[in-house]
Amino acid sequence: MTGHGRQGGGEVETVRKQRGTGPPKARGKALDKAPGGLSRRARRLARAVGRLLLCVTLVLALAAGIKTVQNRRDVAHVPTLEEALAALPAGGAPGAGFEIRDPYAVPGHWYKVQLHVHTDRSIDGKWTVEEALAAYAAKGYAFVAISDHDSITRPETVPEGLVVIPAEENTVAFPFWPLGHHAVLLFVNEHIDRGSARERFDAALAQGAVVSAAHPNWPGNLGSGVWEVKHLLAAPQITLMEVRNAHSNSGLDTAVWHEVVVRRGREAPVWAVAVDDSHHMDQLDHGWTMVKAQAQTLPALKEALLRGSLYPSTGPLVEFGEMDGYIVVASGEPHAGAGAEFEVRFIAASGDVVATVVGPLPARYRVRGDERFVRVEALDRTRGGKAWSQPFWIVARESAAP
Ligand SMILES: [Zn+2]
Ligand SMILES: [Zn+2]
Repeated sequence: MTGHGRQGGGEVETVRKQRGTGPPKARGKALDKAPGGLSRRARRLARAVGRLLLCVTLVLALAAGIKTVQNRRDVAHVPTLEEALAALPAGGAPGAGFEIRDPYAVPGHWYKVQLHVHTDRSIDGKWTVEEALAAYAAKGYAFVAISDHDSITRPETVPEGLVVIPAEENTVAFPFWPLGHHAVLLFVNEHIDRGSARERFDAALAQGAVVSAAHPNWPGNLGSGVWEVKHLLAAPQITLMEVRNAHSNSGLDTAVWHEVVVRRGREAPVWAVAVDDSHHMDQLDHGWTMVKAQAQTLPALKEALLRGSLYPSTGPLVEFGEMDGYIVVASGEPHAGAGAEFEVRFIAASGDVVATVVGPLPARYRVRGDERFVRVEALDRTRGGKAWSQPFWIVARESAAP
């Protein structure tokens, strides 16, 4: 309308007639006899400027609001991956003396462990705690964590031979519950209902907890549940990360875990676990964690979870270990595993696959010395499923602690 107004009422009127809107007479009069064209333009300009200022104010207020909310989330400064890799201890040069730190070189027995289960005490759980525990006991589990949403479930009866880990899946509410990250707090007896991730996890550690970052690439919760590297690095209390969860993307979760291992370094380990995150019978026994512990007790399990003598699996039972300068993967099932073809990838800290071995187990890789760490992914190509090792850190001999 503004453009047409400058060209006179007649043309505008013709256009309006064709469109059949409003009484042309009154409109023509208004356009022709506009008192003081300049002041009208000035008024329009003033109105436009007013609207613009209002918009700018609203945008600034919104940005400030978002910033305020963002500040409630713990975020770490994240250097580039090259900087993080360069900051890692150099390990050994090829041919020079180095040691390989084997997280499995500890005494103990292997236990099948489920670290993430919901029951009908969660809003989305479809089985009772008794049904869930009976099902896991029947699948040979030694430990099961009942991790209902934001509450501690205490079973009245526990099947023979099973140990229940008291736990909750805590919603780190952001910007408000039920949105935000999920973390499984193992070995806790009281629900923690407030605070940022750091504050909640401090409170959990005060209860003797082990903190596990749940489903890092879970697309739910409107995206507010995605654990980015900057969030994970801001929460040093996290010592376990799920690399397999039915509700996430295992490939992406493994990549995030690898990156966090690199950025945290050898002194602040974070160990990979696989879980079901089951809510009903159909989600039973797809991903679990094999833990090498001294005994089937909660203190022994906690000790093993913190020292890293564990591996996630979606099928294979294996033995990872170091032997004479090699990292070795052997079958953990000498009878049932015979004849299965594996694809075993040895991966350096840089993310490079330094060797791929295809065939029946055992598979091995001779460590060069400059990999900083090597971890293993063993895929069972015959029966399906995968096992992940924790990192084997390579330490230069002169700086190697006893
Ligand atoms: Zn969750
Ligand atoms: Zn869950």
